[in-house]
Parts: sequence; C-alpha cells; structure tokens
Amino acid sequence: MLKMFGRSLKLRQVSAGGCNACEADINVLGTIGWDLGRFGIQYVASPRHADGLLVTGPVSKNMELALKKTYDAVSEPKIVIAVGACAISGGPFANHEQVRSGVDAILPVDLYIPGCPPHPLTILDGLLRLLNRLDKQT
Ligand code: SF4
Repeated sequence: MLKMFGRSLKLRQVSAGGCNACEADINVLGTIGWDLGRFGIQYVASPRHADGLLVTGPVSKNMELALKKTYDAVSEPKIVIAVGACAISGGPFANHEQVRSGVDAILPVDLYIPGCPPHPLTILDGLLRLLNRLDKQT
C-alpha cells in the first residue's frame, strides 16, 4: 500500500473538533516556504479524490458521524493519519464526555504525529517516513 502511495499521496484533512492550531500548521506545509507538493503530497477537497485522511482534533461527538462518512467515501486502499495530541489520545480534551479521545476509537490509524500542535517539520517528517522517503539513519 505504501509503495503505491510513495510518489503520489492525496490527503483529505478533517478537523474533528480541535482548537485549530494543528490545522494551521498543516496549512503551513502547503505554503511557498514548505511546498509540500514537491514531495508528491497534496491536500484535496473531496474524500473521493483522496488516498487517505489527515485527522486533527479529539473527535467530538458532533464530528464522529461526519468523520466516519468521510472515511467511507475514500476508496480502498486508504490510510488514516492522526495529527496532534488530540487526534492521538484526546489531548487536553481526553475523557471529556463530548469527545471520543482520539481517532483510533473509531477508525484504524496508520500513523500518529505527536505535538500540540506538531511543528510543520514534525508533520513533514512523519509523512516522509510513512512513505519510506527518508533515510532510516536520519
Ligand atoms: S493537539 Fe493541541 S494544538 Fe492540536 S487541536 Fe489539540 S489542543 Fe489544539
């Protein structure tokens, strides 16, 4: 699966109830300073054009159904990437009655990128390592 996406990965970003700081750093990667597209990785507007989801936020109950439907709309094979402490385990919202405390409570997660929020370099590092695009010694 990763061999298939190694040179071209399209991701649909889903904000599942976070504070928006993770989204801000994800968006930074698309700016001219980082130019994520040169690595063959792009954000797309529709899950039907995507190879996977990039999810932020602890998955609020209000966003749970939307996240599931978005996941279902992505064709197989597909990947799920949890970005930020909220998406990994709920972060500062963990165990609140209105959240699911992380993406893997409802979807299979292939990659966890830590931080609150993660630095853009951390996100880029995670994506490139997932795709075996970095030397394992670095
Ligand atoms: S991990 Fe931190 S920065 Fe990201 S959405 Fe949660 S609270 Fe905000």
